[in-house]
Amino acid sequence: MVGNTPQLVEDVNPQTCTEPSVQLKCPGNTLQDGRHDKPGSLKEKGLHLGNTDSNWKTNIIVDQDTDYAELVLFIGEITLGEKNRNSMKDIQLRRKDVKRILQAVCTLRNSGGGVIKAHIKNQNYSFTRDGMGLDLVNSLPGIVHLPHDYLDFMQHKDYFFIFVKPWKPNHKGPGITTIKTNLYRRIFSFSVELKAADAVQFLKSRPSSPGKIVCNETLNECLTLFNRELLAYEETFCFTKSTHAEVKLTPKEKIFPKEKILELLPQTVSAFTNTEGGYLFIGLDGKTQQIIGFEAEKSDLVLLESEIEKHIRQLPVTHFCGKKEKIKYTCKFIEVHKSGAVCAYVCALRVERFCCAVFAAEPESWHVEGGCVKRFTTEEWVKCQMDATAEMPGKVICSPEALCMKPFSQHEGYEQLVRTELGSLCKGTLVVSKSWALDLGLQEKQEVTWNVLHIAQGSLLTLHVFVQGDENLEGNSSLLGELGAKLKGYYKQIALTLKQTLVNHCGYTAKTGIIVKITYLGRKTVCLYDSSAEIRYPQKYYLTIKTVRDLEKALLKSCVICIPHVRVNVQYLSFCMIS
Ligand SMILES: [Zn+2]
Repeated sequence: MVGNTPQLVEDVNPQTCTEPSVQLKCPGNTLQDGRHDKPGSLKEKGLHLGNTDSNWKTNIIVDQDTDYAELVLFIGEITLGEKNRNSMKDIQLRRKDVKRILQAVCTLRNSGGGVIKAHIKNQNYSFTRDGMGLDLVNSLPGIVHLPHDYLDFMQHKDYFFIFVKPWKPNHKGPGITTIKTNLYRRIFSFSVELKAADAVQFLKSRPSSPGKIVCNETLNECLTLFNRELLAYEETFCFTKSTHAEVKLTPKEKIFPKEKILELLPQTVSAFTNTEGGYLFIGLDGKTQQIIGFEAEKSDLVLLESEIEKHIRQLPVTHFCGKKEKIKYTCKFIEVHKSGAVCAYVCALRVERFCCAVFAAEPESWHVEGGCVKRFTTEEWVKCQMDATAEMPGKVICSPEALCMKPFSQHEGYEQLVRTELGSLCKGTLVVSKSWALDLGLQEKQEVTWNVLHIAQGSLLTLHVFVQGDENLEGNSSLLGELGAKLKGYYKQIALTLKQTLVNHCGYTAKTGIIVKITYLGRKTVCLYDSSAEIRYPQKYYLTIKTVRDLEKALLKSCVICIPHVRVNVQYLSFCMIS
C-alpha cells in the first residue's frame, strides 16, 4: 500500500508539518515572540521541527514615523515581480518573503487592519507590468479567504504597500486569523493539522467524556507488539497505519536518529491525544511491513527516553475541565535481534486520549500590542478563538457634553477663517467635536480649538484640526513648523483610534482611508500639516455612497459621537455645510 510509506523524511507533508520555533528579536518596537521559553525548550536545542526553513530571522517593525493614521508594519526589503521572483536562486529566501508577508497580514487582521510597507529590492519594478509574483499571490488564500476583498496593493516609488482591510470576526468563523493552529488530529492514517475553523469546532467539543473504550483488531495487534520484550530483524507485523497506529522508519544512514525521533513527537502526540489515542512505532517499515529498528547504544536510549519525556511535557495544552490531567503515555524500547544478538531497537510509544486539547507547538498567530508585533500565547489564542465576538481592548466614553454645542461662539474672530477653510471642501457631512481626544479616551492637547471630521463621497475621510492662534507664533514659520511636528503624531493617533473605535465598537469595517489636516488660526490661516501630501491610498479606500452611509450609521451607533448634537452643530455651522 503506497500510503503506508514510513520513510521519515519523505513522509512529512509540508502542508502539515510543524514549523520551527523562531527566535525573533524585539529591539524597541520590533517583532516579539510572545512565548515564554522554558529551559531545555526545542528552541534552545536548535531542534527544527518539520522540513521547512529552520533559522530564518526577521524583523517586522511597527512604523512609528509613518504619516498614515494606520497601523503600518514595515517588513523590510522584498523582491517583487513574477520574473524576478522566479529567478531567485535562494529558495529559503523566497519562502521567508512569503512567510513575512503572511505574518504581517495575519498581524494586521488581528489588530484592526492597517498597511504593510516593503522596500522593493529589485530596480525598475512596475507593479502594473510585473505583478507581485505567483508564489506570493498564491500564498494569500491560505490565510485570507477571498484575498481581493480584504487586500489592496499599491506601489509608490521604491515602496510596495499592502492595505489590509479591518475585519471583525462573527459567531460562525474563527475569532482570529492564524497561519498555523499547530493543533493536530488523526484522520484515517494521517496526523492532520486542523484549519482554524475546524480547530474552533474541536475546542468547543472539549472536554469530551472518555466514552467507550476503543477496541479493534489494529489496537490488539499494536498492544501485542508493544508488550513484546524482543523482536526479530525483518519479522513481519500484522497491522497498517490507521487512526490508532503510526509506523515510521528512520533513515538507514543515521546510526542514532535521536533528532528525527524527537521531530516526530509533537504532531503525532498532538494528533493521538486529540483523537482516540494510539501507538507510534519507530523502526517499522510500513511498506514491507517488516521490523527493522534503528541502531543505538543502551546509554543513548536512556538519554532519549528523558528527552522524549521533556518534549511531551513541553507540548502546550489547554484545559476546559477541572481535572487538568497531564498527557498520559508510555515509552519503551524493544530489542531487535539478528543471529541471536541485539542489532537494533524499536521505539514504541503508547499515547492515551486527552481530556481537552494538546498542541504540537503554540499556534502561529500574531497581533500588535504595545507598539510591538507579538505572538499570541496558546491561552490567549484559545480564548480569542472561543470567544470570537469578544470586544477588542479599547475604551468608549459616552460624553455627549464633550461635543461642542456652540463651537465658535467665543471665538468670533476665527469664524470667518474656519468658514473659508471648510467652505472650500466638497459636499459632505461635517461632524464637529470640541475634543475627539476626550471622546476617544485620549489625553487632550491644550492648543486645540476644534476638530472637524469631513465625510464626503469620492474623498478620503478627513480629520481637520484647527489650532487656536498664539500671538508668539504669528509669522514665525520655524515655531509654527515645530508646532505642526508636535501635533502631527498626536492627531495621527486620534485618527487611528477613531478608525479602530469604528471597527471594534460600531462594526464599521469598510475600506476607508483617513487624512489629517492641521490648520493654524491666527490673523490668517496657515497649514501646519497635511498628511495627504505624504501618503497615498488605493482608490477603493475613497468614500463611496455606501461607505458614507455606513460610516454615518456607525457614528450614529457609537456613543462617542452623538449625532443629535452634531446635527445642532451642523445647523449652527450651516455657513460651512457644503450643500
Ligand atoms: Zn482537561
